[in-house]
Amino acid sequence: MTRVFQMVGTGSSDSATMFNTSAAVVSESGAFLIDCGHTIKHALNDSGIGFDNISGIFISHVHGDHVFGLERVGYEYLFRLNRKVPLFIKREIYTELWDQTLKGSMGRIGEGEATLEDFFDVRYITDNQFEFDGVSYDVFAVDHTPGKPCFGICINRKILYTADTLAIPSIVTDYTYDYCFHDVSLHEGNPVHANLSSLLAYPPNVKQKLYLMSYGDDWQAFDNTVTTHFAGFAKQGMTIEL
Ligand SMILES: [Zn+2]
Repeated sequence: MTRVFQMVGTGSSDSATMFNTSAAVVSESGAFLIDCGHTIKHALNDSGIGFDNISGIFISHVHGDHVFGLERVGYEYLFRLNRKVPLFIKREIYTELWDQTLKGSMGRIGEGEATLEDFFDVRYITDNQFEFDGVSYDVFAVDHTPGKPCFGICINRKILYTADTLAIPSIVTDYTYDYCFHDVSLHEGNPVHANLSSLLAYPPNVKQKLYLMSYGDDWQAFDNTVTTHFAGFAKQGMTIEL
């Protein structure tokens, strides 16, 4: 069975043109999503994957551009498609995800009170690793908003996907991978996303493997710098065979 990693969206939270940053591992059995922001339905349909072909979801952390699409998936899969999507999360984000975020809009349905488990097949990630549909995933903590847990993921020891984070020099040098999709803030001074200068300080052999993601609509002004020092900008629709 052929499997590919595919970028579904590459925009920062305020991008109006590139969908929320997320990716998918796509095979004949469906698309396993890495994050599920509020643009997910349009992004999946636009990318050719199709909103109805989700086989599973991993959530890195609880910000709207990474989780608000779960409301759409939860309702449409429960009531229209009649199935629960496996939802892989670290236990550390459960309270933020359900009690503090989704419960307000999904906590009551026609049948009465509802829980996250009524909408999804919730699977907790233990020992920081899991397998799904023949692909191995290694999960690691990254450094995003203070006090808020956030996790990156390494797919088949081939693709390192950082999710939202500041620079994580020990992880990008210690892990085994061929390609890295890394959060970036193109404008300096961002306290919770990796400023471009902090990524330029990575070793050259790391920078060669880096595709930058989660960038703003003015990315073209930085294209020269990025293509000179890194593999480039991650673009929606780009694929890597797993
Ligand atoms: Zn975030």
